[in-house]
Amino acid sequence: MSRAKVYLVGAGPGDPSLLTLRALELIARADCIVYDGLVAPEILRYARPDAELVSVRKRTGDSPVKQQDIHQILLDRISQGKMIVRLKGGDPGLFGRSAEEVALCIEQNVPFEIIPGITSALAAADYCGIFLTDRESSSQLMFVTGQKAAGKIDSRLDFANMAAFGGTIVFYMAMTRLDLITAEFIRNGKNPKTPVAVIQNASTPRQRLLLSNLKNVAGDCRREGIEAPAIVILGPTAHTDARRNWFMARPLFGKRIVITRDRKGNEDFAMGLLDQGAEAVVFDTIRIVDQTQDANVQPVLSNLSAFDWIFFTSANGVRHVFSALSQMGRDARALAGPKIACIGSESARCLSEYGIRADFVPTKFTGKAMVEELAKQESLAGKKIVLLRSGIALDDLPRALTQLGSVVTDCPVYTVQSLRNDPTDLLSKLSGNRIDWITFTSSSTVRSFFEQIPLDRVAASKVRIASIGPETTRQLKDLGVRVDLEAERHTIEGLVEALKGFTE
Ligand code: SAH
Repeated sequence: MSRAKVYLVGAGPGDPSLLTLRALELIARADCIVYDGLVAPEILRYARPDAELVSVRKRTGDSPVKQQDIHQILLDRISQGKMIVRLKGGDPGLFGRSAEEVALCIEQNVPFEIIPGITSALAAADYCGIFLTDRESSSQLMFVTGQKAAGKIDSRLDFANMAAFGGTIVFYMAMTRLDLITAEFIRNGKNPKTPVAVIQNASTPRQRLLLSNLKNVAGDCRREGIEAPAIVILGPTAHTDARRNWFMARPLFGKRIVITRDRKGNEDFAMGLLDQGAEAVVFDTIRIVDQTQDANVQPVLSNLSAFDWIFFTSANGVRHVFSALSQMGRDARALAGPKIACIGSESARCLSEYGIRADFVPTKFTGKAMVEELAKQESLAGKKIVLLRSGIALDDLPRALTQLGSVVTDCPVYTVQSLRNDPTDLLSKLSGNRIDWITFTSSSTVRSFFEQIPLDRVAASKVRIASIGPETTRQLKDLGVRVDLEAERHTIEGLVEALKGFTE
């Protein structure tokens, strides 16, 4: 018997952190993920690297995928015996044509599961501080699709009944027919002053909220350019205020921030920004390449206990060393004996994941501070010190140590290569002033970025430049770039904090 199984999974409304644990677990295991246009792209990063990802975006594009085509895609994967996650925006059971896909499974005798998701109506309301029910004014709730409001004859919406309904009415897919819908309500006796809230792109950094009433809402949306995907809330509960609208009050809400690290680093950075309401514009400028297998590195890693001190200067260094040790059939005990110093709380935290506490972390995360502070604590003269770090790191750290009489082994466990991107999209966003910040987290990201994006295009835009610390700032200034902000703490978290605290 085929081991094919179909999971109809709700992907939630947009904010990837609103995914359920069950959804996450299935996404991480699936052979194949067939996903809708409304599914947040960040969610797909949890898929297996070898999983097949099939987009069936119905909303946009020149050739929208038809339901029949989706069935064919599912049938093909079923016949291949795959574990299929059919990922749908919001909840699979609400306006998602899941019934037809379940019928297909039953017909094919393929087992299936349905995993609920947070529907966009609930997220839209909660992420604006709107409460869909209210003890005083609304004890009923109705979910309606605006699609069925077209044309009188095939209309299956009962406007007379809805106009008489005293509670809250939530419309999905109503934007193209908002004129017709609101007119029908008024024609059926609903008070034209009934409050209406429209929320576009709910729970994302592009969330927009419009508060109006039944009479004016269609015109207001046209004027403000509020479009699908949007939720329309109609009734006495359709109101909020600046204090209740917590999501849009976040310090970085709606800010578009370019991030320029390597792919993995950018993924983590993007999640941190999203958490603050900002939208990350990803431009990977570098690639991290392992060097632990090099002939001159292996003997050093095999004999780490011969040193007095091991220095890590980045989390990348820590990860590469431990993965190399593991490949050598060894573990954390290979580091037994020497003391361990980390520049930066990120490398120290990464080290602690392997069960090792750093003996020394300087208060300032630079090579110079590291040596000065450590030398105050103990004499480094004659000490054997190994630097497990990037092959392109500055030589100020080994130089300062050598001056103090230490015997330094500079051991490159990884290197950083410049990465080329298609700059078209970023350039058009820059010239349209649709970017608020460009962030840099190392000198190599600065160099690679400006090899690809001409400096005058950045200077001509209103964009601001943020740097993680003094070395990165120096590199920016050397290239003639104006730096608007330098983080006090030289970590990604410190950079996000600095962006949050920035005032004109
Ligand atoms: N199953 C989905 C609904 C699919 S129908 C769910 O449970 O949310 C598509 C409609 O959902 C859109 O036209 C829009 O009305 C609504 N929608 C989906 N995501 C949205 C979002 N992030 N913000 C506002 N509305 C959204």
